[in-house]
Amino acid sequence: MIACFEPFVHGNDTESTPNDDVSSLQTSFHFGPNAIATKDFGGMKSSNPLAVIRPISTADVARAVKAATTIKNLTVAPRGNGHSINGQSMAEKGLVLDMRALAEEHFQLLCIEGVPYVDVSGGALWEEVLKRCVSQFQLAPRSWTDYLGLTVGGTLSNAGVSGQTFRYGPQTANVTELEVVTGKGETFVCSENQNSELFFATLGGLGQFGIITRARIVLQKSPDMVRWIRVVYSEFEDYTRDAEWLVTLPEGDGFDYVEGFVVANNDDPCNGWPTIPMGSNQMFDPVRLPSEAGPVIYCLELALHYRKTARSSDVDMKVDRLLGRLRFVEGIKFEDDVKYMDFLLRVKRVEEDAKAKGIWDAPHPWLNMFVSKSNIADFDHEVFKKILKHGIGGPILVYPLLRSKWDDRHSVVVPTDSNIFYIIALLRFIPPPPKGPPTDKLVAQNNAIIQLCYNKGFNFKLYLPHYHSQENWIRHFGEDKWTRFLHRKQNFDPLAILAPGQKLFSRNN
Ligand code: FAD
Repeated sequence: MIACFEPFVHGNDTESTPNDDVSSLQTSFHFGPNAIATKDFGGMKSSNPLAVIRPISTADVARAVKAATTIKNLTVAPRGNGHSINGQSMAEKGLVLDMRALAEEHFQLLCIEGVPYVDVSGGALWEEVLKRCVSQFQLAPRSWTDYLGLTVGGTLSNAGVSGQTFRYGPQTANVTELEVVTGKGETFVCSENQNSELFFATLGGLGQFGIITRARIVLQKSPDMVRWIRVVYSEFEDYTRDAEWLVTLPEGDGFDYVEGFVVANNDDPCNGWPTIPMGSNQMFDPVRLPSEAGPVIYCLELALHYRKTARSSDVDMKVDRLLGRLRFVEGIKFEDDVKYMDFLLRVKRVEEDAKAKGIWDAPHPWLNMFVSKSNIADFDHEVFKKILKHGIGGPILVYPLLRSKWDDRHSVVVPTDSNIFYIIALLRFIPPPPKGPPTDKLVAQNNAIIQLCYNKGFNFKLYLPHYHSQENWIRHFGEDKWTRFLHRKQNFDPLAILAPGQKLFSRNN
């Protein structure tokens, strides 16, 4: 076993550090410098872990957890790529397992009853999975996130949502087997038919029940090309009607990707019309917008997969047939043909650009939520058209998903009063203060939006939730699901060792 175990024993903290017990762990691990675990993408929280461990095998992970069970108050946080916003992958005075160290484990193609699957490490980035699957097998997972610099274990602990979710469900619904190390340090292979309670608990389980060391992901033939389209709406009602129609079309009849976003109805380069065209050769012509358009407008983003061998007239015909049924503003349409891989890696370019502008490493007070179809018009009226009418300095996503594609046995919760609910994502990219607004002010704006949803009685759930009190967590899950969550916790992590950064439970002793 070659693993690094780096002590983070901080000067004055030694009193609270179980030194003797830790030294027993140290004999099992090698040491090396590391500082990743003190911060995350959100940039609003920091923590001082006791140590960072770089496991290179499932056995390493199990040994670390097992050792932690014997040390008073010690917690263990699996850290994927640290792209959480609110410290979820941190462990104050605990052990951080850098799951990226496991990335090269597994990667094996399988075919079961004619269906292709790939076994990948929980620490692999989706970007790595994409590149290897496409280049080696011309196959690809079916369900994605927009940005692929996230680990398999990190997104499966939440849900994993993007423009394919309406068809295939979130990433959690596209996994048939997991290898998991529980909070007792025991390793299990689990699936719908084997150790099923652990399987369902872990998917969307916020890292609370076990550490995903391997996942079996359903694959499909990867297309070569994508017709990427954006069309614009001035009326939210037209936008939602068309988006909902598109996501309910049978497979093969509609687009392969459906997303959408809101922009300010002005020429602001970060928040307005200029953010809609996909290429520098495309121009947004505001003259085409109706004069009665409100403070914000809506952009439906669509994609159709096709093979290199497809006749372009066939692709044109299918696209024209579908677009012909939509009620977007006439003449405001953008199209491009891009390679499948370039399409899936489109946010990588945003990352490069944001890094160049110094806003990738700035604080990110983001807010993600799921809002029921029954409240989405009011949400538009109160939030998009009023609170956020000037934009947020980054994308505001809003697009429909189908509850029937989500597995209720998983730990993640979504609104349940209608089959359609919307994902809302406020992805703020702003320069750090003093150039940009104070981060606290933006967090307060997020909180005001959440409070408004409570006050108006909206049926909504936070996605990538973050709460400070157990009372709020109980409200998040609802009594029944909370009881199930608690029961699962008692079964799989009774000492509450795992993922303390979620602030759901405190270590028991
Ligand atoms: P971390 O932040 O490292 O961990 C998240 C949680 O999972 C922590 O509690 C951690 O302890 C736990 N965890 C990590 N690895 C494991 C494991 N192997 N086993 C068990 N628990 C584990 N989400 C979407 O759904 N769709 C998107 O399109 C999307 N785009 C994003 C774009 C950006 C730029 C960013 C920053 C985030 C985005 N997200 C999106 C959110 C993202 O899915 C979550 O924040 C996810 O948790 C990040 O993955 P990570 O590997 O960085 O996980």
